[in-house]
Amino acid sequence: MTQMNITDKPIRIAIIANGKYQSKRIASKIFNVLRDDPDFYLSKKNPDVVITIGGDGMLLSAFHMYEKELDTVRFVGIHTGHLGFYTDYRDFEVDKLIDTLRQDQGDSISYPILKVKVTLDDGRVYRSRALNEATVKRIEKTMVADVMINKVKFERFRGDGILVSTPTGSTAYNKSLGGAVLHPTIEALQMTEISSINNRVFRTLGSSLIIPKDDRIVLVPKRLGTYTVSIDNKTYHHKNIAKVEFYISNHKIHFVSTPSHTSFWARVKDAFIGDLDS
Ligand code: NAD
Repeated sequence: MTQMNITDKPIRIAIIANGKYQSKRIASKIFNVLRDDPDFYLSKKNPDVVITIGGDGMLLSAFHMYEKELDTVRFVGIHTGHLGFYTDYRDFEVDKLIDTLRQDQGDSISYPILKVKVTLDDGRVYRSRALNEATVKRIEKTMVADVMINKVKFERFRGDGILVSTPTGSTAYNKSLGGAVLHPTIEALQMTEISSINNRVFRTLGSSLIIPKDDRIVLVPKRLGTYTVSIDNKTYHHKNIAKVEFYISNHKIHFVSTPSHTSFWARVKDAFIGDLDS
């Protein structure tokens, strides 16, 4: 757990809700309570704390809204459905969240995020940050790409694409592809194949790889054409990619450390196993 600078100034709060009626209702309830409290200042500009209302998708969107201010912002999520991976509070726990903010001492829980650098053949460079994962796919034909790990040519991949996830993203798309669930305190990336072709001629490792903090994965496409790069919930199309680099960012995402912070393994159990006892 780390502590951010807390001063006597009011805590600047941004409230970000998705379009659902229930989320908007909760947003206006929080707004009305905090508006008249001198300990808080409601503003979407330079917030200290961002409250998201919705689900994991809403938290992902808020992360991208404030991705350039990660060192000074802490997030806290209210889930309007079942418990999410990035959300500590349920919709009926708004009062509990407000109490937590009143007692806030600046404590935070921080998790690694992914940095992605796409370089095109003509030299143009596009940099992004991902909270869950990034994928590179070739839609119209088989993707053929060399996978380099720390400048070692590891394998030539043929198939639909490659996904690289953060630890917190390991339970999302990565898991659907058969990747491992990684505890978010482990500072590592995970590379998982998307429908690789494996036969007597073409060979890849087949299993997911866990890559430590300072290692770098570089994907070098072997064919010209259009590639689709996804960063969390956003998709980009690039023509003629020279390489895509993946590494852990120097910045982290910080969450408000709350008494309601659910253990990671409890979240995994709740989301994927439930109460089945057989
Ligand atoms: P969305 O909000 O519908 O999210 C899709 C689902 O992923 C939701 O059930 C959400 O709760 C869950 N999810 C998101 N982050 C998670 C996490 N870290 N751990 C466990 N579950 C998580 O759609 P969106 O807003 O476009 O979300 C984008 C995310 O959807 C992507 O980051 C990707 O991880 C996921 N996704 C999954 C698949 C798949 O599983 N086949 C395919 C595409 C995208």
